[in-house]
Amino acid sequence: QKIVIAIDGYSGCGKSSTAKAVAKILGYTYIDSGAMYRAATLYFLKHQIDLSDKAAVNKALKHIQISFQTDKASGQQETYLNGENVEQQIRSMEVSDFVSEVSKIKEVRKELVSQQQQLGKAKGVVMDGRDIGTVVFPDAELKVFMTADLEIRAKRRQKELIEKGQEVTLEEIIRNLAERDKIDSTRAESPLVRAEDAVDVDTSYLDFDDQVKKIVELANE
Ligand code: C5P
Repeated sequence: QKIVIAIDGYSGCGKSSTAKAVAKILGYTYIDSGAMYRAATLYFLKHQIDLSDKAAVNKALKHIQISFQTDKASGQQETYLNGENVEQQIRSMEVSDFVSEVSKIKEVRKELVSQQQQLGKAKGVVMDGRDIGTVVFPDAELKVFMTADLEIRAKRRQKELIEKGQEVTLEEIIRNLAERDKIDSTRAESPLVRAEDAVDVDTSYLDFDDQVKKIVELANE
């Protein structure tokens, strides 16, 4: 019996790497909802869309086509915006610093939530984000809420970015994660809140394999 697994939580606590690993073990599809907000943000930045201009935002949304493809060589899932591979670009600090402003917009959320619900229709899906267990899939069979100490999260993120060739200071990352958490948790439209029926997983001192195992066990219950 395949289920839907919703993983929500603060920025940079390892939601996506955990979700990916869980999906792989269970033979499920992994969907990175944050990548969709990032891709939309990249479009808004590239086309210099004024976020306060509702008509311009709505028009832009009609031109944003997001999809995922698995790279044959690396086996990694990559994000495409209107047919272009934007996986690298959406992880830049420029996008990271702007994405939470874009994600506040009601029309943006409405459009992306509906796409996410379509993608999750098939079951056998692990989706991570901020509102998956509360808004996108309120009936998900398993909901996980992940947290971790801010400094630990920032150090992990810095290591990841440096491995990908991006030079960023720890201070810059701490500032970005804290700022995004603040905007994401306080916005009017589907703020980041823990679903009442979510299982808490604090990854500050958990071994990665143990945290994956824990979620797989919960999924198999
Ligand atoms: O998951 P990731 O950190 O890549 O998400 C980037 C940003 O996208 C978040 O900080 C948040 O502003 C937004 N987001 C959201 N709802 C989701 C997923 C991401 O608002 N379901």
